[in-house]
Amino acid sequence: MTTMIEVKNLQKKYGDLEVLQDISANIKEKEVVCIIGASGSGKSTFLRCMNRLEDITSGQVIINGQDVTDKSININKIRQEVGMVFQHFNLFPHKTVMQNIILAPMKTRGISKEEAVKKGQELLAKVGLSDKADSYPGSLSGGQKQRVAIARALAMNPKVMLFDEPTSALDPEMVGDVLEVMKELAHEGMTMVVVTHEMGFAREVADRVLFIDKGVIVEENEPVELFSNPQHERTQSFLSKVL
Ligand code: ADP
Ligand code: MG
Repeated sequence: MTTMIEVKNLQKKYGDLEVLQDISANIKEKEVVCIIGASGSGKSTFLRCMNRLEDITSGQVIINGQDVTDKSININKIRQEVGMVFQHFNLFPHKTVMQNIILAPMKTRGISKEEAVKKGQELLAKVGLSDKADSYPGSLSGGQKQRVAIARALAMNPKVMLFDEPTSALDPEMVGDVLEVMKELAHEGMTMVVVTHEMGFAREVADRVLFIDKGVIVEENEPVELFSNPQHERTQSFLSKVL
């Protein structure tokens, strides 16, 4: 299978603080990779370096053959190909659900409003929110907001979807609906990188799990192996607290 994301010796510093140290990873087309690790270990920074929300200090990130760390590359092109879903949704509060979804495709892909709305309706049906097109984010539950955020990211037809703790801010009863949408996406063959504390999801859906500690990938394996037979002491210690 072809490589979709190639991370080579990625290093990220904030001043003197080295948040990511020499991270290398290959993620194949259609692969679902979950990233686990303690708070502050660098998981979000890793994702943010992948779509260049952060400038990297050294190393390379190549997505679908394009070096996103190349300063001359058009950043909007990268963002079109790499969808991102955040813990806190980041929807535009003064726009309706449909306006949230059609904004970027119309602006950056030059798609007509009619076409964007049609695609928006399909996506809302997919995430189970067909009746919410004209609602404002403020009137939605957390789980509904997150499903809108997923639909909005998908509206760009991304090649890759990055999720940063998409269910961490949700009430427990909302988590399942969001994970269900993500599971469906995975089954459709979307390439996904998911930072999550949902070990059940990782176990069921991930092809591979990476455990990050202090800015280093300490261990990676298929979920069943990693969860039942962690090799590294730091992985064992982390898992003993979360499983
Ligand atoms: P995680 O997502 O695993 O909780 P983060 O990637 O958010 O971890 O953060 C990793 C480390 O980098 C933490 O020590 C955090 O305080 C630091 N950090 C993150 N963003 C910044 C920033 N913009 N400036 C300075 N330090 C930061
Ligand atoms: Mg984080």
